[in-house]
Amino acid sequence: MKDSIENNTFITGWKFENSYTQLPSPFFVKQNPTPVNSPSIVIFNHPLAASLGLKVEALLADSEGVGFPSKQLFSSNQIFSGNQIPQGAEPIAQAYAGHQFGHFNILGDGRAILLGEHITPIGARFDIQLKGAGETAYSRRGDGRAALGPMLREYIISEAMHALGVPTTRSLAVVTTGEPVYRTGALPGAILTRVASSHIRVGTFQFAAAIDDDSEAIKALADYTLNRHFSKQVIEADTEQTGTKNKYLSLLECVIDNQASLIAKWMQIGFIHGVMNTDNMAICGETIDYGPCAFMDTYDPATVFSSIDQQGRYAFANQPHIAQWNLVRFAETLLPLLHTEQTTAIAIAETALHTFSVKFKQYWLTGMCAKLGLFTEQADDALLVENLLNCMAKHGLDYTNTFRELSLEANMQQPMLGAPDFIAWHKAWHKRLLNQDENLESAIQLMLETNPAIIPRNHQVEAALSAAEAGDLGVLEMLLEALAQPFNSNPNHQAYRAPPPPSNTPYKTYCGT
Ligand code: AMP
Ligand code: MG
Repeated sequence: MKDSIENNTFITGWKFENSYTQLPSPFFVKQNPTPVNSPSIVIFNHPLAASLGLKVEALLADSEGVGFPSKQLFSSNQIFSGNQIPQGAEPIAQAYAGHQFGHFNILGDGRAILLGEHITPIGARFDIQLKGAGETAYSRRGDGRAALGPMLREYIISEAMHALGVPTTRSLAVVTTGEPVYRTGALPGAILTRVASSHIRVGTFQFAAAIDDDSEAIKALADYTLNRHFSKQVIEADTEQTGTKNKYLSLLECVIDNQASLIAKWMQIGFIHGVMNTDNMAICGETIDYGPCAFMDTYDPATVFSSIDQQGRYAFANQPHIAQWNLVRFAETLLPLLHTEQTTAIAIAETALHTFSVKFKQYWLTGMCAKLGLFTEQADDALLVENLLNCMAKHGLDYTNTFRELSLEANMQQPMLGAPDFIAWHKAWHKRLLNQDENLESAIQLMLETNPAIIPRNHQVEAALSAAEAGDLGVLEMLLEALAQPFNSNPNHQAYRAPPPPSNTPYKTYCGT
């Protein structure tokens, strides 16, 4: 038995190391997943598995397979359901806190279990987490489980985000558990295997600050985070500076920079996270916790999809402000490390925090200019972008398709939309396009590489989920195939480009817990 388990690692490619468990004990509890009745794999991400160095054939060996000793021990169903723990993994649930819709709570992984950190053949470290793997010490009143629909939704949207070039956690597999979960009614239970650079959140720092008497916990977490994520970024930044700098200030600056870049990317593709609580903001700068998120069809900066976001706190246009609000919460936790005098520490933090809006605007403008075929920014470009967005809002235009179709209009004298304000905008844009070193052909190429043809449209996602819940995975597989090549003008994927049919009921999303 022991031999076969050791072979298991050799054959499957798993290589676990668990550096997080070196942190002081309040940061986690050891917790194995709760076994499930009859796990069955629904979807498996072959390219991701290969990039992680996992041996796909071995992982997917079923009981009919030959050539793999003790195949039952490492069958995908068993591992991705949490029924079997791969060798070297030391499952834990992580503690964290968070401001949820502005209210502070002590939280933690209530339904997710971190198997450990997998080291890829090129030495990259990734958290492997099972979401929906059973109760933990942090489950509060929850059942520790997840339903199939929301787990497939996270799979679809996170993989779409990855293909769109947005930093994100990834999805390796979804298995059904063979057990129901009870929400408004009984739903099929499922577990998602999530792959992340880490699951350290703003809320993890808030947790450390909340339990700290002497700043030991926050220092341990900050040092761990610097070491795990930012040593390279900090060293690069420091070499540009003269003199020595507080490394915790460098940490704050790196996190601010990564978030400014991330949120700008969301805004450029019309993504609405929907629940930007501080526990749902990853320090490494990846998009995390796909709950009520959705992509905007018609451009409207006030768009909110989440049924629980009554005040529009997490509306499309509010996302940069909320990111900054969350970063203030992050900076507060670092104050004892920034300076021994609190007033000095606050001044240092404020100076860093003020850079967020400058950085965000710069990332946003660079990205929006690229969407218009502009290689560098000029003084009036922000106005040019704003004017287009105002036209789009006024005429109820589709965000994704308008930008994509502009690449076809770059060498047309008349725009397709004949409204006077749009004609005037189009003329100004043309003039600007011709006023750059690069030729029109390169500008069009830039636009085609920057403006996706295909995003996970809400009606398509819902259709794929309904079919999957009814046992038909074909719709989901076709959607995933289209989403994997969002910048291609593939005629076979034309149907995915259509906005939803008109409806009187606005699209709503739910937290899916
Ligand atoms: P989320 O809305 O998914 O970001 O989750 C917020 C908090 O609620 C986290 O601490 C989760 O672990 C916890 N949670 C969500 N769903 C469940 C569940 N079904 N059982 C236990 N805890 C849950
Ligand atoms: Mg969360």
